[in-house]
Amino acid sequence: MNYKYNIEKKFKRQWQKKIINWYEINKRDLPWRKSNNQNFYKIWISEVMLQQTIVKTVIPYYEKFIKKWPNLKSFYNASLDEILLYWQGLGYYQRARNLFKAKEYLKKNKLFISSSNLKQIPGIGDYISCSISAILKNENCAVVDGNIKRIIKRVFNLNENSKLFKKQIYYIAKELTPDLKNGIYCQSLMDFANLVCKVKKPYCEKCIVKNLCKFDGKQKKLNKKPKINKLGIGFFIRENKNFLVGISKKKLFQGLYSIPFSDFINNKENTEKELIDRIILDWMSLHNISQKYQILGYVNHIFSHFHLKLFVVDIKLKSKINLANYKWMTHRAYNSKPKSSLMMKVKKLMICI
Ligand code: SF4
Repeated sequence: MNYKYNIEKKFKRQWQKKIINWYEINKRDLPWRKSNNQNFYKIWISEVMLQQTIVKTVIPYYEKFIKKWPNLKSFYNASLDEILLYWQGLGYYQRARNLFKAKEYLKKNKLFISSSNLKQIPGIGDYISCSISAILKNENCAVVDGNIKRIIKRVFNLNENSKLFKKQIYYIAKELTPDLKNGIYCQSLMDFANLVCKVKKPYCEKCIVKNLCKFDGKQKKLNKKPKINKLGIGFFIRENKNFLVGISKKKLFQGLYSIPFSDFINNKENTEKELIDRIILDWMSLHNISQKYQILGYVNHIFSHFHLKLFVVDIKLKSKINLANYKWMTHRAYNSKPKSSLMMKVKKLMICI
């Protein structure tokens, strides 16, 4: 089946001109747009932070990060723990782990900026490599992220459920990318997506490309799977002022510090009480702990593919035990370690006692 569109030259010219003109007047004043921040390191950090995260959330993280490591040379000395600590609360921690791998790679390899070269760096894929090389070198590669996809989908009235959807998007994006000035063009689209062609309510009445757009106002819903509910237990195992803490090896939290917790189990409402007791007792018996426990409460947390209800169990020991991969730590020491947003919520329950 054919995924190619015949886009007339006149359409392309009008599209690029209108989008770029709109940007000249309406562009957002963002820290990574300032002329002294237009270098590889700062654009790279901002683009990594902006993946899956909105601008408003990113700005304070970006500023703190750049204050700590103002350039690539200073970033070379960062430890993984430090990077994760500066990332704490921003989510999708794989991005921070990849930054660590990437700077280790960059210490040993010097690269000229081009989309194909940048893809050799750990954690840099199609989008970031194109976006950096477009912004810094005006390379005319097609920059496509979720926002740009949404604009193209609406303007060409594409069906998101079609098997050809992805190919159509990339084909059209490439066709519309200008040979010159792609740096300005791709940033124009990013701002246009956030200020005009917004996710929920696009401002079609005032839109400068309305005459080129086929959007009928109806959002075709993607057949998304509903999120499942899971349940888990966190174990606050303490003796005097210390409690057990480990560095997680689970994919979601790898490298982050946390109290021990059980696997996350699919949760059916009517069996919750039994399930909690069973998970707690199984876990304690597996680790030879036979102490009384009390449930301190629970926290809810939303992951990209499931909802978690995590109960926190307080176990007060008379003497310390050894638990493989965990060590005893004070609250003060724990405060200085990188933690996931989930563990930040759990921590509030732990200091309530
Ligand atoms: S007319 Fe509406 S849907 Fe089309 S590009 Fe403009 S804001 Fe987006």
